[in-house]
Amino acid sequence: MNKIAVIGAGTMGNGIAHVFAQKGYQVNLIDISEESLTKGLATIAKNLDRMIAKEKISENDKTETLARITSFTNLTKGVSEVSLAIEAATENKDLKLKIFKELDAACSPETILASNTSSISITQIAAATQRPEKVIGMHFMNPVPIMKLVEIIRGYSTSDETTKTIMDLSLQLGKTPTEVNDYPGFVANRILMPMINESIETLYNGVAGVQEIDTVMKLGMAHPMGPLQLADFIGLDVCLSILNVMYDGFKNPKYAPCPLLVNMVTAGKLGVKSGEGFYDYSESRKAEVVAKQFI
Ligand code: NAD
Repeated sequence: MNKIAVIGAGTMGNGIAHVFAQKGYQVNLIDISEESLTKGLATIAKNLDRMIAKEKISENDKTETLARITSFTNLTKGVSEVSLAIEAATENKDLKLKIFKELDAACSPETILASNTSSISITQIAAATQRPEKVIGMHFMNPVPIMKLVEIIRGYSTSDETTKTIMDLSLQLGKTPTEVNDYPGFVANRILMPMINESIETLYNGVAGVQEIDTVMKLGMAHPMGPLQLADFIGLDVCLSILNVMYDGFKNPKYAPCPLLVNMVTAGKLGVKSGEGFYDYSESRKAEVVAKQFI
């Protein structure tokens, strides 16, 4: 395996492309949006510059890494001749089913198809293809170049061979793969999202403000980042989609998204990527609290 494709050049896609390219793989980075591709490549270059500043890599490593990444807006062209395609497009079930149908038609029968989905059923995604045994979840964590964990999700039909290939590959990338079964939210988000949702509910109920909630969790629980700031980094739209998948999947009201989260996403306040969420990320108001509080 020396050539892979990454579908989606957003927060996660550009990080996945970065990690593979740095390890010597040829990477085809595919997105329907030219703007996302340009932004994604600029993010990779910026993150490589940070590594140079920390003396982890050389200027030459950066040049070689970037040279291994080719961008495409056409999926069929981008996935020809790849041994692995990793989908990291927007968290939307219908969109993912459509992309996997297209991947199945365009890729060689040997190609493994992986999804970086945070919560959508791998079994359902696999059922949209003619190769369910070669479909698997490869859930990288954000920011991908830094975070060690890859949650490896076995769908109902995923074969032992596919699982082993992807576990071995993740180790080779310097990551720690952890195998889990395919139920809504898997393990990471089944535990993380109720905590984030409860933090938003705590704000919504007027128990405390943004800064206070984050400070309690940072200093009291030794979390490196408060849950509201973490939600801003993940993307509030992504958090909402994951909660909805768990709510629908388990039919349990404990996963119902907080109305404040729904309102913020509807208003386009998506966190870091839109410049504003619970905090303001514009240059002039670096990380000031802006979310409306209900105290
Ligand atoms: P994002 O919104 O930053 O990026 C999504 C990208 O997908 C955009 O660039 C968009 O143009 C592109 N896209 C949409 N439709 C497409 C198509 N048909 N073909 C190609 N590209 C298409 O989203 P993200 O945060 O990078 O999330 C991507 C996936 O990773 C989601 O499934 C999400 O649940 C998962 N994930 C996100 C995080 C996180 O912290 N953000 C962590 C782990 C997993």
